[in-house]
Amino acid sequence: MRSSTFFTTSVRRALRPSFKSSLGLQSRRSRHARATEFLQCHDPDLTESQRTVRESIAKICENFPDEYWAKQETSKKFPTELYDTLAKDGWLGICMPEQYGGSGLGIAEAAVMMQTISESGGGMTAASSIHMNIFGLEPVAKFGSDEQKERWLVPLIAGKERACFGVTEPNTGLDTLKLQSSATKDGDEYVLSGSKIWISTAQNAQKILILTRTTPLDQVKKPSQGLSLFYTDLTDAVEITEIPKMGRAAVDTNTLFFDGWRVPARDLVGKENEGFKMIMHGMNAERILIGAEALGLGYAALRRAALYAGDRVVFGRPIGKNQAIQHPLADSWMKLESARLMLYHAAKMYDQGYESGEYANAGKYLAAEAAFEACERAVMTHGGMGYAKEYHVERYLREVFIPRIAPVSREMICNYIGERVLGLPKSY
Ligand SMILES: Cc1cc2nc3c(=O)[nH]c(=O)nc-3n(C[C@H](O)[C@H](O)[C@H](O)COP(=O)(O)OP(=O)(O)OC[C@H]3O[C@@H](n4cnc5c(N)ncnc54)[C@H](O)[C@@H]3O)c2cc1C
Repeated sequence: MRSSTFFTTSVRRALRPSFKSSLGLQSRRSRHARATEFLQCHDPDLTESQRTVRESIAKICENFPDEYWAKQETSKKFPTELYDTLAKDGWLGICMPEQYGGSGLGIAEAAVMMQTISESGGGMTAASSIHMNIFGLEPVAKFGSDEQKERWLVPLIAGKERACFGVTEPNTGLDTLKLQSSATKDGDEYVLSGSKIWISTAQNAQKILILTRTTPLDQVKKPSQGLSLFYTDLTDAVEITEIPKMGRAAVDTNTLFFDGWRVPARDLVGKENEGFKMIMHGMNAERILIGAEALGLGYAALRRAALYAGDRVVFGRPIGKNQAIQHPLADSWMKLESARLMLYHAAKMYDQGYESGEYANAGKYLAAEAAFEACERAVMTHGGMGYAKEYHVERYLREVFIPRIAPVSREMICNYIGERVLGLPKSY
């Protein structure tokens, strides 16, 4: 038996009809869950497989409560326990090909998984610790050779190797096509020089999927040409320096500097000079997953806010009896739900083969903004206690900035919708 078969067993078992009916899920479909319930599993619109993923991941996450995440944050320790548990049960390959140990499910199921993990209180810390495993190697799955897929996907899905993703550069930011790092062919190696910034998990990863220029910008017809993608070992040739940051302290983010880094030519993904096309391929799915991670934080914040508003008595009555407290929370639920419906609509369309990006981008935008507002309101609902680490909402608020900024900012999403949907001229 191949090892990959073992790793997907739990996921497949979870998706068996008998398992689903044993959870009594059908009976709960006639009402919407209470937002105060921890990881409720009965949103009325979820498909049976999404619902089963939600229920199974919720069970795992019960063992990683807010207190666990607060401890990881304080000690700045990578959440290996959650990572290993998800790997052991086969979840890291949820939407990777079955042939290499994955479960071959869709982005619609992966989004539920990421939302649930974040919503458990793990937020962006939990989500970012596995984000790259879930869909990061899609360019390899799509454009890699059989030998590369066997060599790279199997250990990644099994949780034996961790990977990071290197696109952003200090001097070019969102203007990716102008990135300045270079790779020059030298026999059966490429020599890479340049720098990257904001590379998450590089302190913990053995591998990196890195985009770099192989043909200078002034020698290509279009700026999107001449970039190449490598998946390779992060060796000592790369100087990795952690960036102290606002939140998500347990999952590192780094600057990378390399000069004369020799990378085997067999680590080139697909064809030379076509790296940007490959990166773009997985872009919509990544937007959907980040949006789902943001949603999770929004619902976690709302749950804590509603519970606190019901409990905390001031002026002789629960603060939640005041409309100034109650209405913003009701408004947040509506905004989170509308973002969720848009995002899961985008996921369904993606799985059906829809390639354009307006729903994925819009879903990510709406989810991140709704989640940000929910987190801010959760802090304010708690009053002074919102500022105390004990109630966790300040941690959520610090983390919820991430999906607003990365992997693409709000402004760039508005640029995209302005041009592609409204037909307006490019503004930059
Ligand atoms: C915690 C964290 C983790 C990250 N992890 C990774 C990772 O693992 N790998 C990776 O490659 N990157 C990662 N990033 C980088 C992230 O994708 C970038 O920060 C993001 O794409 C924005 O790029 P920038 O920071 O260079 O902003 P800039 O490009 O400098 O932009 C700054 C601001 O100007 C605005 N702006 C710029 N141009 C325009 C325009 N034409 N119109 C309107 N507004 C504009 C932007 O929207 C933004 O608000 C991470 C970032 C963070 C914060």
